[in-house]
Amino acid sequence: MSPSTIYDILVIGGGPAGLSAALSASRQMRRILIVDSQEYRNNATTHMHNVVGFDHVPPLEFREKVWRDLERRYGEDMVRLVKGRVGSVENRSKAEKTLFKVKSEGGEEWSARKIIVATGAKDVFPDIPGYAEAWGKSIFHCLFCHGYEERNTPLSGSLAYGLIPLVATHHLGPNIAMASRLSEKHVIYMNGSPSEQVDQIKADKVVNALLQSGRVTLDERKIERIVMRGIASDDDAKPNDHANLVLEFADGPAAHLAFLAHPTHQTLSPGSAMIVKDLGLELTPSGNEIKAISPMQDTSVRGVYVAGDVSTMMKAASIAISLGSAAGAMVARELAVEDALFPASGNA
Ligand SMILES: Cc1cc2nc3c(=O)[nH]c(=O)nc-3n(C[C@H](O)[C@H](O)[C@H](O)COP(=O)(O)OP(=O)(O)OC[C@H]3O[C@@H](n4cnc5c(N)ncnc54)[C@H](O)[C@@H]3O)c2cc1C
Repeated sequence: MSPSTIYDILVIGGGPAGLSAALSASRQMRRILIVDSQEYRNNATTHMHNVVGFDHVPPLEFREKVWRDLERRYGEDMVRLVKGRVGSVENRSKAEKTLFKVKSEGGEEWSARKIIVATGAKDVFPDIPGYAEAWGKSIFHCLFCHGYEERNTPLSGSLAYGLIPLVATHHLGPNIAMASRLSEKHVIYMNGSPSEQVDQIKADKVVNALLQSGRVTLDERKIERIVMRGIASDDDAKPNDHANLVLEFADGPAAHLAFLAHPTHQTLSPGSAMIVKDLGLELTPSGNEIKAISPMQDTSVRGVYVAGDVSTMMKAASIAISLGSAAGAMVARELAVEDALFPASGNA
């Protein structure tokens, strides 16, 4: 396409949400450009789980299948993928026409009538040496994504530290209850938290019941270092020694675990924050997501839509796919209505 081409839709981000949005909109023969910097949130993991039809499939295999489908069925002329990072978005909308000028950090420029922001989220890690290396391999933020492969193991743990208040008060008990089902014994690690926080966790009625059972215990010691002795067995066929993750403490013996469950805090990625600033998009009350103002994923700015982890607290691939599908359908609908009412609003 020539540099003067005005794309119908420019999708920023080519993870499950962006790809799903592109697929929906392709069904309406729209010219779509996906610009993707390829830092997918699940890059740290070898397999994706709990996505119907793609359970225990490497994330790359999933993306390649979608790209093949898009190319084969809708054609490269209609859906184009560019590897790169969007560096700025300018809103040049006038009256009934919406128009956006998008520049990559590498200096490429594109114009598009609609924007779908599908830029994912950033996971915020607690300041524990070795945590980042074990993330997604033996530290699991979501028990529907990982953990089942470590079932029937002697010992696993939950980290009750570095959590946002909402998780600490409402979700930690259920999360520990689910994690503890996967091994014979389960330990809640407090990582030297102040005594008020330890008391608060103990007072949670689910945690309290689990502690009473004797199968779940609590360890208040400060973790000095997390060491990976190998990755958790992510393959059902391979035996696992069930103790890949070692927690070393300031005092006392180390713990050897099959996995550590930790519902990490997520926030806007730098790539999303830049778009929010450029377009003046409204955020959710927590400030961690771009606010979708309807179930069809439109935002506070006309012509801009949002999908996937950047738009919801429910951050999982299947949900990103579903929100992407809604955004793609909504954009296609809006474009069809505009073309009917203002026939000149298409490509010049
Ligand atoms: C370790 C780990 C394991 C997980 N395992 C599972 C699992 O088994 N099952 C499951 O359902 N979910 C899993 N998840 C969650 C899942 O990865 C996310 O919910 C899903 O990737 C969200 O899709 P998305 O398209 O919104 O974002 P992403 O997949 O993160 O894609 C966003 C894309 O946008 C790009 N981007 C950002 N800013 C810009 C910019 N300015 N310009 C261009 N591109 C940009 C990023 O580089 C990235 O490529 C896991 C998450 C983690 C962290």
